[in-house]
Amino acid sequence: MSGMVTLVGAGPGDPGLLTRKGLEALEQAEVVVYDRLVAPEILALIPEKAEAIDVGKQASHHLVPQDEINRILLRKAQEGKNVVRLKGGDPFLFGRGGEELELLEENGIPFQEVPGVTSAIAVPAYGGIPVTHRDFTSSLHIITGHARAGKALDIDFEALVRTKGTLVFLMGVSSLPAICAGLTAAGMDPDTPAAIVERGTTPGQRRVNATAATLAQAAEEHHIESPAISIFGPVCGLADKFDWFDSLPLKGRTVVVTRPKERAGTLAPRLRAMGAQVVEYPCIETVPILPCPAMEAALNAISGYEWLVFTSAAGVETVWHTLEAMGKDARALGSVKLAAIGPGTAKALLTRGLRADYVPEVYDAAHLGAGLAGLTQGKVLLLRAELGSKALTDALDGAKISYDDIAVYRTLYDNPRSEELRDRLLAEEGTLVTFTSASTVKGFVSTVGEDFLFDRITGVCIGEQTAAQAKDYGIPVVVAERATIDSMVEKIRGMF
Ligand code: SAH
Repeated sequence: MSGMVTLVGAGPGDPGLLTRKGLEALEQAEVVVYDRLVAPEILALIPEKAEAIDVGKQASHHLVPQDEINRILLRKAQEGKNVVRLKGGDPFLFGRGGEELELLEENGIPFQEVPGVTSAIAVPAYGGIPVTHRDFTSSLHIITGHARAGKALDIDFEALVRTKGTLVFLMGVSSLPAICAGLTAAGMDPDTPAAIVERGTTPGQRRVNATAATLAQAAEEHHIESPAISIFGPVCGLADKFDWFDSLPLKGRTVVVTRPKERAGTLAPRLRAMGAQVVEYPCIETVPILPCPAMEAALNAISGYEWLVFTSAAGVETVWHTLEAMGKDARALGSVKLAAIGPGTAKALLTRGLRADYVPEVYDAAHLGAGLAGLTQGKVLLLRAELGSKALTDALDGAKISYDDIAVYRTLYDNPRSEELRDRLLAEEGTLVTFTSASTVKGFVSTVGEDFLFDRITGVCIGEQTAAQAKDYGIPVVVAERATIDSMVEKIRGMF
């Protein structure tokens, strides 16, 4: 039985502009054939098991010729695969989506198309330009500025100018001088507002405003390169007023998020929403220690402890993993009191139906230890990471509280793309790197290498212990007021 092909529009660059239907198709894909303009964050959504084929076209030389792309789609579908053809913007708008369907139709392969948010409308929008506005224009025209090899532009400028509509040119960076000349020669008022937006909807977006007469020169002065969109019409005059995207607080800033993927939670999307270029660089991984006879013995003797202490959400999860492997559940904890280092850990407990009896005012190991010392004379059980912070046990030792410190998981440091990150950090000075625990600092340092020039970055740390670890490696730091993700986000916002 043959498979099927779904053309999916990936949107113009901002990964949030992928449609829900597009995402569903991608999640079901066994083969994904993708283009150059698809955002890396969207490529990261390709299922691990799926075969990903890059047919990205460079501006002048096609990496994979169109006929070959058509044949790849056909062949994979004939093998019975569920194929997604992922294309920038909308697949049918100057996307050759129609050409790709022809061969499939001829061979009786079922197909469908998921429209995408087209750059022709979204890029002006992120540049503060509404493509129509009742006070200015009643039509919109989308034109390709690309000339077929060796041929002159084939555009009816007189007809376009007569419409008095907004004119949007795609693929027109190199032919911009000819476009401006063509429009003004055809009678467009040379003072008509015009704009060009490069890498629209992405953190690297740049916009240049000029007029129909001067846009080509202005674009050249600013070294505007493809991909870019040129817009002609009075609506361009609104750009400075409606410039919402370029004025986001973190626009133009790169922030590296080192949390493990499953814990990255809201940090990355919230930074993105403030305009940051977020690089997700998970460099630690937590692995439960299994089997864990020490934990098993402690749980069998749980009535002998007054407090059970968790120092991370990962700890809660790995303990549950171990409990499950032991064929047990929450009842194994009996009526022991529960302490959590901070709200994230307390929340992880709540998702297991357990409320923390104690969370310190300041969310770190030293305060947790000191707080417990004031609450108990009984025995304490610590279920935490191998090589956990000494500040906690020091505080308990100081108060002569007896405890068992059992390692239930270990942290591995790894990221296959460390080389890439190193180069990037060296190329852009002042990149922010977020650290949500001392182990993310260790993971970062051990993956980029201890010889890295750490003074080139700024570490944004969740708390004092994390900051101390970062300072040990010579990383300049700023520290969140409270040890929470919210507070880190606020801190970063306040920096600019
Ligand atoms: N199917 C796509 C267009 C493909 S043609 C769509 O619907 O958006 C490629 C052209 O699209 C580029 O040359 C450029 O003019 C425009 N383009 C695509 N993404 C862009 C972006 N993020 N910023 C500016 N222009 C973009």
